[in-house]
Amino acid sequence: MSFAIKIKYYVGNNFFDRERIMEKKNGGCLCGETRYQLEGAAVAEIICHCADCKKQTGSSYSVIAGFTQDQFKWIADKQIKHFETGGDSGGSVKRFFCGECGSPLLSDASATPGLYWIKTGSLDDSSWVKPSMEIYAKDKIQSGNTTLELQSYQNGPPRN
Ligand SMILES: [Zn+2]
Ligand SMILES: [Zn+2]
Repeated sequence: MSFAIKIKYYVGNNFFDRERIMEKKNGGCLCGETRYQLEGAAVAEIICHCADCKKQTGSSYSVIAGFTQDQFKWIADKQIKHFETGGDSGGSVKRFFCGECGSPLLSDASATPGLYWIKTGSLDDSSWVKPSMEIYAKDKIQSGNTTLELQSYQNGPPRN
């Protein structure tokens, strides 16, 4: 299923099978002041090579997993802060992080309304994460290469 179709399928029809609804995942920041919970399966798992992700994560790229906002809830949220940047084509990206320890947690991009993009390193268990796509490959650096088979996009993800 293409990225765009998948997003439309999940967000547009708000469809989840029963087994996926039951599944819960927890995550949070380094100091533990900020915690969240996710329900069900990710809509997409993606590697992002954009310059802003490099800056924010302090690493070679971000690994992010998309969840609908219905699937997400904060469990501990007193320290949450966000920083907003301009995204592609006039859009904006709100990047949420822990104000106490600085761990990046998730992004809310105006280009993908209704979704939160979880930084998968913030999950308590991220062993299930297997990106199938990379975006902003034009900004990829040497240490951004992986052995994964990825559908590669030079810029942002495809849209309908
Ligand atoms: Zn923290
Ligand atoms: Zn990025």
